[in-house]
Amino acid sequence: CGIFGAIGLTDAANFVALGLHALQHRGQEAGGIVSHDPVEGFNSARRFGYVRDNFTRADVMATLPGSLAIGHVRYSTAGSKGATAIRDVQPFFGEFAIGGCAIAHNGNLTNAARLRKDLIERGAIFQSSSDSECIIHLMARSMQKTQAERLKDALRLVEGAFSVIAMTRTKLMGVRDPLGVRPLVLGRLGDGWFLASETCALDIIGAEFIREIEPGEMVVIEDGVLQSSRPFAPAKSRFCIFEQVYFSRPDSIIGGRSVYETRRQIGVELAREAPIEADLVCPVPDSGTPAAIGYAAESGIQFGLGITRNQYMGRTFIEPTEQIRNMGVRLKLNVNKSLIRGKRVILVDDSVVRGTTSRKIKDMILDAGAAEVHFRIASPPTAWPCFYGVDTPERSKLLAATMTEDQMRDWIGVDSLKFISLDGLYRAAGEAQGRDPAAPRYCDACFSGEYPIAPADKLDQGFEM
Ligand code: 5GP
Ligand code: SF4
Ligand code: MG
Repeated sequence: CGIFGAIGLTDAANFVALGLHALQHRGQEAGGIVSHDPVEGFNSARRFGYVRDNFTRADVMATLPGSLAIGHVRYSTAGSKGATAIRDVQPFFGEFAIGGCAIAHNGNLTNAARLRKDLIERGAIFQSSSDSECIIHLMARSMQKTQAERLKDALRLVEGAFSVIAMTRTKLMGVRDPLGVRPLVLGRLGDGWFLASETCALDIIGAEFIREIEPGEMVVIEDGVLQSSRPFAPAKSRFCIFEQVYFSRPDSIIGGRSVYETRRQIGVELAREAPIEADLVCPVPDSGTPAAIGYAAESGIQFGLGITRNQYMGRTFIEPTEQIRNMGVRLKLNVNKSLIRGKRVILVDDSVVRGTTSRKIKDMILDAGAAEVHFRIASPPTAWPCFYGVDTPERSKLLAATMTEDQMRDWIGVDSLKFISLDGLYRAAGEAQGRDPAAPRYCDACFSGEYPIAPADKLDQGFEM
């Protein structure tokens, strides 16, 4: 998901709408904005579909006055699958004895089922099926006198990955979980302060990128003043390495470096680790493009756009049902036949999950008359599900969970298939020594099976690590 918050400028909701538009790649199912104005109080609009179709409309934006607003774009991971209900669309809002509070959450709570059961037994009335709603109920139960302290109380009880933006009548707050699994950055423009999932959302409004919110840090912004605190026990950070590979936008800055540069470097590493003689390096657009550029540069093989993407389709993987996903590839991608015919083609993609995308692309490339097809993948085999906010399917549906690399190659039906090593990926992400097995810098559980946060609910359901 993507989250954005703004305080200190008139019509803050307009800034939020623009920020969310720049974060649309993080969630395309639905979006919502809550704003506050001293006269009008809290208002909200929650809609299915793209930001540009909902939050550009004068009739919608007119309902969101005030100089304080937060918003969310949704990508369903926890909560209702397939048909998202509008009640699952964030931000969530709660009215407590000490006033109202709205929250927007990116990530996934790993103990939400346990918390929910417990809260319901103690009288909480849940409005949604979302894991994030627990945070509001936990805040309602806190005895603290301020919203910020209540939010801290609530977040000390949840486990998992969370970047949270919250707002009261006067405050904008932002928190990252102790491991900092999901991103959150701080920006400024004149008297305005902003919190956003990624820096690309600051760029769109012309705001200055100040810094990342640190893992385990909470910031509270009120009357133009920012206060920082550390509500949790210190921990070593474990940022999601898949943000670097796929999830974040390539023009965003993470850890002082553009995501594009990291992805290009993944391609360079991949060319060193898995060279092959061929005539053309071709990205699977758009997610494979930077890595393909790096692979072509390092190998000296010609780069070409052999596949064209229809820009008006969303990300296939993010469409929640298998049927839509299956159709998606053809609706979205088409082969440039005259470029491919007779060539030995290296296809570069970001990941293989179920393998359905790779298999269909291979068919399209062979239909176009390619002499050979070689797949190079910019991440290691995805062998484990993510429980921290990226929607990977259950383990049995992951190709790499049940097959060796050679079996995957044969199942997809290509001449060769190679994945970047975990060490190579870490090198590309700026760790010169590769992955330190004693203290990895990133979360890489979907590749390594080493979960930095025990997935309590999944273990209850019989998941075996
Ligand atoms: P598959 O067809 O192997 O199940 O899916 C892999 C494709 O889904 C890749 O092309 C990748 O770009 C895309 N994709 C979109 N969203 C995600 C995601 O959240 N996780 C993963 N691993 N791949 C995704
Ligand atoms: Fe990211 Fe994978 Fe960890 Fe999920 S399991 S947080 S996708 S690295
Ligand atoms: Mg892709």
